[in-house]
Amino acid sequence: MYKDIGLFINGTWRYPQADRPGIEIVNPSNHQHLGYVARADVNDLDQAIEAARQAFTLWRDSGAEQRSTLLYEVYRLILNEAETIAASMTLDQGKPLAESLAEVRFCAEHAKWHAEECKRLYGRLIPARNLRVRQLVVQRPVGVCCAFTPWNFPFNQAIRKICAALGAGCTLILKGPEEAPSAVAALADIFKRAGLPDGCLNLVWGDPEQISTYLIDSPAIAKVSFTGSIAVGKRLAAQAGAKMKRVSMELGGHAPVIICASSDVDKVSTLLVNAKFRNAGQICISPSRFFVHESIVEAFTASLLGKIDGLRVGDGMDPETQMGPLCNERQVTRLEALVDDSLAAGARLLAGGSRVDRAGNYFHPTVLADVPSHARLMQEEPFGPVIPITTFRDLDEVIARANALPYGLAAYGFSEERSECAQLADGLQAGMISINHYGLGMPETPFGGIKDSGYGSEGGAETYDSYLSTVFITELTRD
Ligand code: NAD
Repeated sequence: MYKDIGLFINGTWRYPQADRPGIEIVNPSNHQHLGYVARADVNDLDQAIEAARQAFTLWRDSGAEQRSTLLYEVYRLILNEAETIAASMTLDQGKPLAESLAEVRFCAEHAKWHAEECKRLYGRLIPARNLRVRQLVVQRPVGVCCAFTPWNFPFNQAIRKICAALGAGCTLILKGPEEAPSAVAALADIFKRAGLPDGCLNLVWGDPEQISTYLIDSPAIAKVSFTGSIAVGKRLAAQAGAKMKRVSMELGGHAPVIICASSDVDKVSTLLVNAKFRNAGQICISPSRFFVHESIVEAFTASLLGKIDGLRVGDGMDPETQMGPLCNERQVTRLEALVDDSLAAGARLLAGGSRVDRAGNYFHPTVLADVPSHARLMQEEPFGPVIPITTFRDLDEVIARANALPYGLAAYGFSEERSECAQLADGLQAGMISINHYGLGMPETPFGGIKDSGYGSEGGAETYDSYLSTVFITELTRD
């Protein structure tokens, strides 16, 4: 059922050929061959840029009603085709089928949200000092955009950027993840069938650095959007900055979770096990550094271990599977190194700690206690199914420890005391803060980080901001 994936340029698919071989796509559950994804060369990139540039001259003047209708149709088509998209995504990305289906169905709502919000891209009228002058502020689409999306939520991350760009009246060249390309290709196909004019959305794949360098340097590109690691994000932002281009960056996080003494240990551990092991922990907002009050650490850890014990790790296509493999082999190697480093730094291994002995990129759900703050695991985003636990006594002191890293994407706090909840909400430094539940990532709420985790919001009423330029018009209406 898995098909080769083409480039999508000016409304036409260009598949890998014998004389233009693509990049192999491998199933992370068993390392078996799935197919090939086409590789763009400079000629393809030039054609994608030209197609997007030409399409922008028409699409920027499409009305809000036309764009909204298109996005509603996309929403409808996604829901109709969710099972097929999800099955291919589990094959190339690895997450359990139920999670893939949830991602596709839930993220279809981004199309609906953008369909609704694109009708509300208002300008305003500013009262002038001179009554013969009319002063307007209008929002105009920035132009041709390029975007780069990663492999952990292939559908989610692509649909957010596509809807925001197209809903604002921009056109887009998107480089999706070569490791897990099927969901992004399915989206492009759906947009075409929903009636999007050719050239408004173009998909390319290949060498990420070569493609981003070429696109960002092109004078035709007005805006750059990236989701991925902080290291790559900083490079792309610097490159775009040198050309004075608009940028939005959704980068990594290392979310602190502070669990106060008053917390309901059983409730919190259930919630965190569900949140932590979803997508095998490969989530930028994953709860990631566990600070547990010393008075409840034993009870909390026992409760956590009890829930992890029964977690079924396996092929995402198996309906019994609760946690799939990691998406790629380099993630497994990274996690092994982080666990080894923690143990060398004095941490205690309570569960897992190693790869699973079978074909595929599997890693055991892992819990480490007494992880010192200088261990790499407490400093670097693990992006995997690993829970490092440390303790605290004083809330002010632990908030300072939580804020000590350069990350600032998500943060979590748990307490049954009202004043502690307020202290957590006010004190944690992150773009998204969730107290006493796991409540981030809705279409109607802004998603984005501060500090090294990036800038710009996806979703919420802010979703179109970085795709629009504010233009002030002043007009003398009569002498
Ligand atoms: P990475 O930043 O190298 O790659 C992430 C995505 O960006 C990939 O899909 C890749 O194709 C693309 N990419 C890489 N270099 C690029 C470039 N020069 N130009 C344009 N696109 C480029 O990260 P990785 O090695 O795949 O994963 C390492 C770490 O990155 C993870 O452990 C995690 O910390 C972070 N990450 C974060 C997210 C997120 O959602 N914020 C997603 C994926 C990875």
